[in-house]
Amino acid sequence: MKKGTKLELKIEDYAFEGKGLARIDQEGTDKKFVVFVQGAYPGDKVNAQIRKKKKSYAEAKLIEVLKPSEYRVEAKCGYFGTCGGCKAQDLDYGVQVQYKEKQVRDIFERMGGLDGFEFFPIVPSEKIYFYRNKMEFSFADRRWITEEEVASGEEIPDRDFALGLHIPRIYDKVLDIKECFLQSEISNDILNFTRDFFKSRDVKIYSTKTHEGYLRNLVIKTAHHTGELMVNLVTASEDTDLISQYGAELKKNFPQITTFINNINLRKAQVAVGDYENVIFGPGFIYDYIGKKKYRVSANSFFQTNTLQAEKLYDIAVEFGEFHPDDIVYDLYSGAGTIAIYLSDKVKEVYAVEAVEAAVADAKINMELNNVHNMQFIKADLNKSFYPIAEKHSFPKPDVIVADPPRSGMNPKTVADIIKLGPDRIVYVSCNPTTQIRDIKEFIENGYELLKVRPVDMFPHTYHIENVALLKKR
Ligand code: SAH
Repeated sequence: MKKGTKLELKIEDYAFEGKGLARIDQEGTDKKFVVFVQGAYPGDKVNAQIRKKKKSYAEAKLIEVLKPSEYRVEAKCGYFGTCGGCKAQDLDYGVQVQYKEKQVRDIFERMGGLDGFEFFPIVPSEKIYFYRNKMEFSFADRRWITEEEVASGEEIPDRDFALGLHIPRIYDKVLDIKECFLQSEISNDILNFTRDFFKSRDVKIYSTKTHEGYLRNLVIKTAHHTGELMVNLVTASEDTDLISQYGAELKKNFPQITTFINNINLRKAQVAVGDYENVIFGPGFIYDYIGKKKYRVSANSFFQTNTLQAEKLYDIAVEFGEFHPDDIVYDLYSGAGTIAIYLSDKVKEVYAVEAVEAAVADAKINMELNNVHNMQFIKADLNKSFYPIAEKHSFPKPDVIVADPPRSGMNPKTVADIIKLGPDRIVYVSCNPTTQIRDIKEFIENGYELLKVRPVDMFPHTYHIENVALLKKR
């Protein structure tokens, strides 16, 4: 077997990041050789072609499904398979969540070698379509040409204008998208209106090669509970006339839009965040609720993207934390203070730590919005030790620490700080169970025991998993 070899495989299992797994006999040994097939599911019989071969396993590309798994369903979206947004729309949702649950279990039990903790069933998402409150579309001056277009043999139009989503591993081309089922009907309408508006005026798209051109991203945020709607156009420079024309047309065509912002990104980095922003109409932010708490969401602050599931996630964190009116709580990686505020009326005081200035500013506003007075926000980089900061400001010792770090998990310095502070309970919210288990093992080696674990599905049709764990001091 080598790169390019074609094989007929029976998929037996499901591995990380949505890979079907087949085991085949190895000549001359009684050991099995593992082949991962992206996009194949257990129960499938497939034709696949080896893309990469290693000593003990190979990665293969799915060529054809010969006999489908009984859990395959028709993908709702015509872009599925090309677009990078959804990875498992063609798998029954109930089975998707079972696999996610199994993955978390495997990570904790097999990779982590842990047992004796309570594992609660995954919380499925209430909505499996239109569940996102934020969509970030990209402009590109190189449109991704689909296989069907090539196969049609016809002349290919509009090669140099695309507004849509990136496809996996391709950074300079964008798949032009007219409809996406993750946010809402109206965001599709805004997307298409925006494409037509700029294309008909021959406005240039920012080029990652020449660094010329104007259009970079279109970000749409919708508030689940209030219905408020934000449009944020990210551009490479300022064009006062053009932006006010676009703003006026937006307002006329979509009276539902409550605020329109222009972020200006002067850097080469392809991020949908500006160096500064101009509010064209409306207040420049929207409000939404998680549970009973009200939050202000601005263009560049982090807000959980599945509002309904965020409430469930926070409820689990609150349940695990077993908060008491005398408790001192630290909320690390606090973002716009959402978790801290969510639990503030259950405890004595909360100290929240976050690195991004704009998020800390939002957090302070969110505190006022919710009439919260028992909280302090500290802007600090948790890649450095925060222990000296806690000491300098004479923060009382915490009873509970809630931490919700990014995918990379906690910095070892933060883990060490938490151990030194020695809270009775640690509620660890994570979007990456692999780094979470790494950190949890460190806590276990230093006087803690793992009591509870519960995954929550915030992102149907993707591989992303959110997971809450509770540790208690022995
Ligand atoms: N708990 C919040 C935010 C979680 S997202 C919520 O539920 O909405 C993770 C947060 O960690 C982001 O706000 C990000 O800005 C912050 N963060 C990432 N790296 C950090 C660091 N080194 N120090 C402090 N905060 C960091």
